[in-house]
Amino acid sequence: APAEIPQAVIDAHGLPYLDSRLPVRKRVADLLSRMSLEEKAGQMTQAERAALTSQGDIAAYGLGSLLSGGGSTPTPNTPEAWAKMVDSFQLRTRATRFQIPLIYGVDAVHGHNNLAGATIMPHNIGIGATRDPRLAEQTGEVTASEVRATGVPWDFAPCLCVSRDERWGRSYESFGEDPALVESMETIIQGLQGRANGKDLSRDDKVLATAKHFVGDGGTEYGSSTTGSYTIDQGVTKVTRQQLEAVHLAPYRTAVDRGIGSVMPSYSSLDVLGDGRGPVKMHARADMINGVLKGRMGFDGFVISDWAAIDQLPGDYASDVRTSVGAGLDMIMVPYAYKDFLTTLTDEVKAGRISERRIDDAVSRILTQKFRLGLFEHPYADTSGAARIGSPAHRAVARRAAAESQVLLKNAHGVLPLKKDQKVYVAGSNADDLGNQTGGWTITWQGASGTHTQGTTVLQGMRKAAPDATITYSKDASAPLDGYDVGVVVVGETPYAEGVGDVGNGNDLELSAADKAAVDRVCGAMRCAVLIVSGRPQLIGDRLGGIDALVASWLPGTEGDGVADVLYGRRPFTGQLPVTWPRSQDQLPINVGDASYDPQFPYGWGLTTLTGVPQGGTATLKALARAAAAAERTGSARAGRAIVTRARLIVQRKAGSAMTEAFAGPFADADHLLLTGRYAAAVAKLTEAYRAA
Ligand code: BGC
Repeated sequence: APAEIPQAVIDAHGLPYLDSRLPVRKRVADLLSRMSLEEKAGQMTQAERAALTSQGDIAAYGLGSLLSGGGSTPTPNTPEAWAKMVDSFQLRTRATRFQIPLIYGVDAVHGHNNLAGATIMPHNIGIGATRDPRLAEQTGEVTASEVRATGVPWDFAPCLCVSRDERWGRSYESFGEDPALVESMETIIQGLQGRANGKDLSRDDKVLATAKHFVGDGGTEYGSSTTGSYTIDQGVTKVTRQQLEAVHLAPYRTAVDRGIGSVMPSYSSLDVLGDGRGPVKMHARADMINGVLKGRMGFDGFVISDWAAIDQLPGDYASDVRTSVGAGLDMIMVPYAYKDFLTTLTDEVKAGRISERRIDDAVSRILTQKFRLGLFEHPYADTSGAARIGSPAHRAVARRAAAESQVLLKNAHGVLPLKKDQKVYVAGSNADDLGNQTGGWTITWQGASGTHTQGTTVLQGMRKAAPDATITYSKDASAPLDGYDVGVVVVGETPYAEGVGDVGNGNDLELSAADKAAVDRVCGAMRCAVLIVSGRPQLIGDRLGGIDALVASWLPGTEGDGVADVLYGRRPFTGQLPVTWPRSQDQLPINVGDASYDPQFPYGWGLTTLTGVPQGGTATLKALARAAAAAERTGSARAGRAIVTRARLIVQRKAGSAMTEAFAGPFADADHLLLTGRYAAAVAKLTEAYRAA
């Protein structure tokens, strides 16, 4: 990396903003007081790096930020090439008056997913299934460490969407349908950023995180999009004020408490019932961005627009700029016509249609994070951490996450775990496809089937777990079926990002014809386990009767070993459904708490193969209720969680896999209570379920 500026030189210049011994607030004020309007507007501009007409534009326009967006291809495929690329852009800022470093951003939404060889975590829906906040935090630690080691200090993650209709093509970016579950997984923010006070951001293994998409992205109505007939991505979220607060805004309060550094508004529109305004694009909602986020919640980071999102506002470009900056946007992901944006912004300020105060506020917020990130002192990549990328230690975290995310929906005849001496027949489109198991936002925006990075598929993981077993693989189940102990059919979706989802599959949550045929052939011939590798529930319907074991595998990432760990009993199944599993398409949208809730598997469902779970009846549950109350009094979350989990297992043992409605409601309530720290009430709910089961 190019040499950094020695302290002696900084001292000689006598410029307070360069002095790292001064508080960030003073440095920001000093720098801001020296800047011209054009320089300030530059800081508010983010361009796609592939859109740069020339690298010289970075200095010529004083650009504040660059990104590699979803559609930005090709991206470099080694850590060294990434670091070199980012450094080469950063070097250009040295030719500006104040040498304000760029802040480079990427979507690392499940590990450093733009880089081949990086550790790829399960997508958020799988992380939600783990119900393990510490694990969520660790996935953030790994991601931050790998991203920063390539010179990138900013991540457009985590997505805090609360997905309410799984026909939405971004459902897998959600931790789940319950805001309390989403909030409990926000430990990932600490994993990415470190402490809430921002003091860890300058470390070489931390990045600035982005809570997105503010607010209501997971609540859009089916078929209500203004840009297409059936897509609900970028559509309209119609909610009462109370639903808005309780479901969609709640995760942002937590994110602000956790010190989130940036927030990205949603492409979608918000229609708050009864406020008389109708649907209004989030990028224009001053009441929500200025009012709620920055005002009421006290968010002190900066707001970055979504990709070209201001272009979707009604009116001409000048009005788009006025409306969005006025609503509280601090930086605009332009991302192409950055010169137009800069000129328009400065013209609007000069004409008095955007106040200088608003500009100063926006730039202060951006500079604050740049100082906190230590970019003025260390603008260039510190590649000493490159060895961590895809390292065994990092892959171990991803492997555990993959294992913990597996949800055992049904397990008749104790088919799972498999025994190492069994003769196994493996089939299905997702048994041996790393691309399908990593999903969208992997190497490329949409992701792709096939082998595009390093990792193990489910099949490879199984072969490693049982090296002496006969494991026959026949993708379409055309190989002879006789003579096997058990079949494992791995089916599901092919990758997609944004939009309507698995378009080739009709976006109807139906399994493909080939997958159905493989399930029918294998399960018709032997005992079988079906694994569904997908970003959201897939309809299994009446087929369930002919399947012995069913597993929701989500999109487990590069470590198929983790899936094999639970299949072969090296780790127990402990995952729980983060979203409701519907019986049929016409039940959608379906969410826990709905008036007529009759899903195939309720929110929170998940069998366990944990051994040593004590047998117990109402007496045990009573004792657990007392222990839960004590845990609540002493504020022991760890004990509280363990107690509720035990109670849950007792109830599950009694209910077996025979789901009844009487059981499902209290069960889901208990999960919610657990997540909000009300352990005694959770045990009481479970006792109710026990009696009903
Ligand atoms: C997505 C964002 C993403 C941005 C940059 C947009 O299309 O909605 O989630 O951060 O692109 O890639």
